Amino acid sequence: MTNEAIPPPVPALFPPREQRERVDDYLTRALADVTQRVKAGPVMPDIDMARFREALGAFDFREPKPLEPLLEWVIDCMEHGTVHMTHPRYFGLFNPAPTFPSECADRIAGCFNPQLASSGSSPVPVAIEAHVIRAIARRAGLPGGAGGHFTTSGSEANYTALVCALTRANPRFATEGVRAFAGPAVMYTSKECQPAWHKIAHQAGIGRQSLRLVDTDGTGRMDATKLSAMVEDDLRDGAVPVLISPTAGTTGAGMVDPLEACARIAREHGIWCHVDAAWGGAALCSDRLKGELAGIEQADSVTIDAHKWFATTMGCGMFIAREPSVLNEAFGVGADFMPSTASSIDPYLNSVQWSRRFMGLRLFLALGTAGWAGYGTHVERAVKVIDQLKLTLTHLGWTAANQSHLAVLCLIPPPESLPVREIVRRLLDSGHAWAAAATFEGRSVTRVCVTHGETSVEDVSELAVALQQARALSR
Ligand SMILES: *Cc1c(COP(=O)(O)O)cnc(C)c1O
Repeated sequence: MTNEAIPPPVPALFPPREQRERVDDYLTRALADVTQRVKAGPVMPDIDMARFREALGAFDFREPKPLEPLLEWVIDCMEHGTVHMTHPRYFGLFNPAPTFPSECADRIAGCFNPQLASSGSSPVPVAIEAHVIRAIARRAGLPGGAGGHFTTSGSEANYTALVCALTRANPRFATEGVRAFAGPAVMYTSKECQPAWHKIAHQAGIGRQSLRLVDTDGTGRMDATKLSAMVEDDLRDGAVPVLISPTAGTTGAGMVDPLEACARIAREHGIWCHVDAAWGGAALCSDRLKGELAGIEQADSVTIDAHKWFATTMGCGMFIAREPSVLNEAFGVGADFMPSTASSIDPYLNSVQWSRRFMGLRLFLALGTAGWAGYGTHVERAVKVIDQLKLTLTHLGWTAANQSHLAVLCLIPPPESLPVREIVRRLLDSGHAWAAAATFEGRSVTRVCVTHGETSVEDVSELAVALQQARALSR
């Protein structure tokens, strides 16, 4: 080996402070400007994808480019190349316009880039996350010992629930997997469940066949009598029920399954009860709405996504367990190299993840500055916006198919209208607003959800006009 001099740091990757400040200032202003423009522009992308792909293809990464024009190019492409979740007339899936404090959190997390795997290296961030989780757990009415962690998504949190349930159902699951069970391990949720459960059953090794989809009662809620009968049948057939997961705020229609009945059936048979409140969980912040989730306090575990109705940046889920010690049984490992006190709170010993981003700061800052009351107003406001829309559209002959007290409305167009899929296609073509075509209890519906904290009465009127135009048989 020759003794070569170490080259200086690569300035494109690690620019000096003055340049960072200049670029940061530019970015701050550019993002504030584009946020303003997005709100005034179309909800739908209007980019020419063929031309974009050509421009993208030209990046062969041989010729370095200055950062500022690159940033400008990316922001411009984003402005024209996505469905805008940050548009107040995005009445869409549960993808929020993020709260400003959660955007601030992302900047801070990016700057320090702490490793949230261990409390040894990140004592303060780990403590902040654990504190927020405990606060949410208490808000849900879970006992003082409840705890958990932030996840990348609700799907990860639901997956975590199934692994915990399997681990508690049979301690030999840890070593032998599903072979440890005397019969097929099965889990229950409703027909209206979030479809990631199919993947979760696959991932966890119980197999997709082991996902039992219980019928709903005609109003979109799980039929508890049928659940009970299904569990009895499975037990008679030699299967091993491990998990019952009612949904508190179904993805399609915002319905809340009978949480107390599900918890009771689970208790009777020693089955883990997990409430999937990925979206609806934020209703806990409102004194007026939290009663909708009554029974959640009886769950063994709960999923709540901060990146849904809590409107943090993506992805920010939460898994909360009544007795969090099960997490260490499921996810504990020995690792000499970890800067760990092997304290049982270390996230890498209690979660699916290893390297972790400081996600929880988003909810800490948002809750810290808005408080429960601020979030209570945020969710109640969304419900009021939906009520307003319901009133407007029912006057125009539309029918509400679902009776949710949360902020989702499934609409059946008046007679003499185009089919729902066609209505939604024309709505999206118009660029005025975004809504989804969905199915609720066997009927085609236009699904409208308020996910933006600034959607106004004017936006509601504009959606109503756009829907009326889109449904008309002839223009
Ligand atoms: C969104 C959602 C999920 C999945 O959460 P992700 O964060 O998208 O992975 C699970 N359950 C319900 C009820 C949901 O609304």
